Amino acid sequence: MDADLHNKYSSGIYLYMQQISGRKICLKPSKAQIPVLRRMCAVARRAYNWKLAQQNKAYELAKQNTPPGHKIKCEFGTPIDWHKEWCIYKKLPENKWMAEVSKFCGQEALRDLGAAWKRFFKGQAKHPRFHRYDVNESFRCSGNVFIGRDFVQIPTIGKIRLQEKNYVKIPVGVDRIPLSMATVSVDATGKWFVSFIYKTDIIPIYETVSSITADDIVGIDFGIKDLAITSEGMVYANPKGYARAKQRLRRYQRALARKRKHSKNRIKCKHKIARLYQRITNARINVAHQFTSDVVYKSKPKMVVIEDLKPSNMTKNHKLASAILDANFGRMRNYLEYKCKWNNIQLIQAPCFYASSQYCSHCGQYKKEDLKLKDREWVCPVCGHRHDRDFNAAENLKFYGLWLTELVSTRNTCGENTVEACLPCERSEEGVAYVDPKDKRLQFFETQEQCLLLKQEITLMHYIDNRSI
Ligand SMILES: [Zn+2]
Repeated sequence: MDADLHNKYSSGIYLYMQQISGRKICLKPSKAQIPVLRRMCAVARRAYNWKLAQQNKAYELAKQNTPPGHKIKCEFGTPIDWHKEWCIYKKLPENKWMAEVSKFCGQEALRDLGAAWKRFFKGQAKHPRFHRYDVNESFRCSGNVFIGRDFVQIPTIGKIRLQEKNYVKIPVGVDRIPLSMATVSVDATGKWFVSFIYKTDIIPIYETVSSITADDIVGIDFGIKDLAITSEGMVYANPKGYARAKQRLRRYQRALARKRKHSKNRIKCKHKIARLYQRITNARINVAHQFTSDVVYKSKPKMVVIEDLKPSNMTKNHKLASAILDANFGRMRNYLEYKCKWNNIQLIQAPCFYASSQYCSHCGQYKKEDLKLKDREWVCPVCGHRHDRDFNAAENLKFYGLWLTELVSTRNTCGENTVEACLPCERSEEGVAYVDPKDKRLQFFETQEQCLLLKQEITLMHYIDNRSI
């Protein structure tokens, strides 16, 4: 960064930061390159399985020699030692084909094995398993890897064309930039991908919290019927990929069970199922990207409020588990998280006990405790407002954002405490809406320590920003 720019950014209004972003780009390898890629995958798998087989034997032996109740002690050495052994092994006359590809394939696979054992001994993961030859084929290279505007360059093969050009910003006057490492993988449909991380400089404009108005806050409710509803009224339909493909999957799987083992037809059938699963996954990723991008780039909010979703808890209800996993809330939250971070949007998770679909978003004075999943619409007995279930929840989530940024206040301007006079539509000049002190949502927030702390933090940011300008 030159001096001029530096002065500009250090003034406090702008913030300079370096961003690490990941990319996964589809490749267009030539017919001659595909067998080499397959071979590189095979070498990586061979190295992993070869060492794991040796270590499994050593581990079993150690297990037998350890009295029960004691910790099993097993010294395997480091992946660097294993790589030295691997270099000798692959030079044997019958293993010549393994020495033909880059040494990084084997080296990185052994490094992965080392990481797998580490996690196993810490109790974070299960015992390392053998890599299969027909699923999740991939290899990683860590030296001499470059990315250009329309190609990726890896050892042994050289340049491979990219399906999508100009996906990575390359500085002017340079035709490629070095990468620390890249992973090449193939999916069930036979598409090849390269994935890597790289550093980019971004300069987000640091917006102050004080400039937030009610229109800058968006509440999002996730659901199963419609994937998501925003408080602005945008509705995203759920593609229900799995539910729709279920019938066909069942038929294919029944057919597979009837095929003779190791037969050509069995392999063909297996590929058919794998391709179907891949399509379901692709549809899920697509809709998650479309939705999160629409929220971030189209409505351009400054704050997004979502529920505290815990898919692992939600799936405990077995009747709903498949529908919840099919809707892939976890993936949508992940995408929303990083897209908000890149665009300087504050992402707020409402506390998990905030029953956003039960309160009346119009008057706030009623909580429908007996709301069931099948109730799509209900009427508030206090103010008589008819609610759409999901839109009401999105509105209530937005209300949490309004409360956090002090855009709602309980100042009573209308003398008498009638419901009519205190509806949130009444706004002051500063955009602050006055609500009734009897609002049940406010009562809830003010008893939750977590909410009060977050509000304090946001108010503090507000104070610092106002002072620095
Ligand atoms: Zn009401």
